[in-house]
Amino acid sequence: MAQAHFQSINPYTQTIIAEYPIQDKHALDKKISQAELTYKSWRKSTFAQRSELLLKVAEILKRDTERYARIITDEMGKHIREARAEVLKCATACSYYAQEAETLLADQIVNTPFKSKVVFDPIGCVFTIMPWNFPFWQVFRQATASLSAGNVLMLKHAPNVSGCSLAMESIFLEAGFPEGAFQSLIMSVEDIEYVVQHPIVQAITLTGSERAGISVGALAGKHIKKSVLELGGSDPVLVLDDADLDKAAQIAVQSRMQNAGQSCIAAKRFLATPKTAELFTGKVYDLIQNIKQGNPLDDSIQMGPMARLDLAEGLEKQLKDSMESGAILQLGGHRNGANFSPTLLTETDTQMPVFQEETFGPLASVFIAKDEAHMIELANQSRYGLGATLFSEDRERAEHIARNIESGSVFINSLVRSDAQLPFGGVKKSGYGRELAGFGIRELVNVKTLVIE
Ligand code: NAP
Repeated sequence: MAQAHFQSINPYTQTIIAEYPIQDKHALDKKISQAELTYKSWRKSTFAQRSELLLKVAEILKRDTERYARIITDEMGKHIREARAEVLKCATACSYYAQEAETLLADQIVNTPFKSKVVFDPIGCVFTIMPWNFPFWQVFRQATASLSAGNVLMLKHAPNVSGCSLAMESIFLEAGFPEGAFQSLIMSVEDIEYVVQHPIVQAITLTGSERAGISVGALAGKHIKKSVLELGGSDPVLVLDDADLDKAAQIAVQSRMQNAGQSCIAAKRFLATPKTAELFTGKVYDLIQNIKQGNPLDDSIQMGPMARLDLAEGLEKQLKDSMESGAILQLGGHRNGANFSPTLLTETDTQMPVFQEETFGPLASVFIAKDEAHMIELANQSRYGLGATLFSEDRERAEHIARNIESGSVFINSLVRSDAQLPFGGVKKSGYGRELAGFGIRELVNVKTLVIE
């Protein structure tokens, strides 16, 4: 028999928080019809009207930060400080598109012998499929662009964060968006094609695993729908010989360990040279040793549990398999339910799961390259290409190296992060298309040529 409910389980206590009835095709039909109806008027709304509503959303997020942070923490275990920061970051995306969308989508006059311009029209409904790891931010970065462009949006969130999904729907309604502009679908993966094939759905965006990307990309192709895929990553950190090692260690550990290691752009492969490896690894060790893990609602600690038991078990297997192949455990490696202790591995090589696969949890691995040329080779020796960090005091040379790294972004002497003003996305198996900034909003429009004679 088909599953009737999704359960939200607090990963720290493993208690059931709530159950959400799964919407069947009949319920989905109603949502789709509402999206169709709302789109007819929403597409004609002005940028000023859209901006006003987005700024109201930002106000609600700022007013009720604690409430929404608590829903995030309860459902997926993110530390409450990080959850608050995530809610507030969503407000920045609202403000950004409220202010910039009109300029980003302004008509572009083209210099031809006749009168011509390019205009950016809305396309319809964007169907967005999202993961649990940044349950508000991932959605907001897509929703703010979609709605500013005059599209409507339907969200299929990960089942363990159904409470977040419904909370976001109510925020948009409270701000004054028309019913049907932002809809939360509590739906099963089996019904995804049913939604995708509907003519009102004109774009599908997925943030998630490579496995889901293969499936969604194929469906989009089958039904000739635009798609944007934001998938996994195994970001390298390149610690060059002239790096500031204190800074490199601090940023690498922060990147790897925040959100209990569950970030697509976390630093997953620390690359050092024989000259820097020992000192760098020692600094990384000290920082990881000081991370306190426990109840994510406790302000005095830094890390909560992983989001689900099965995810912690999966990471444990990657750790064990890597150790069986010769990696040495320096710190951590314990699992208690979904709580996975901050872990450091050394003596690693490119054949191990910690190099070849994405590790989605608090597991740092140090790899030693023969020299800097080999380090660049190792950085690119990955199926993924989302982000990369490079540490060097020679910024000119660092920029030259950055241009040879196969990834959607390179941050020099800085933490890889998403920012509403900068495009975000990957190459290779990390996906295609971009979110945020002008590139993100223009993924979701009809780029229309207008010639007038
Ligand atoms: P996931 O299993 O792929 O789930 C993500 C979403 O896709 C969920 O809503 C999931 O629904 C849905 N999904 C799963 N299989 C699907 C299929 N065959 N067809 C259509 N939809 C499907 O990903 P996850 O393991 O929860 O999330 C972590 C992954 O997301 C990591 O690889 C991470 O790097 C990546 N990520 C990427 C970015 C980025 O911006 N590039 C950001 C954050 C996370 P169900 O749960 O109902 O199956």
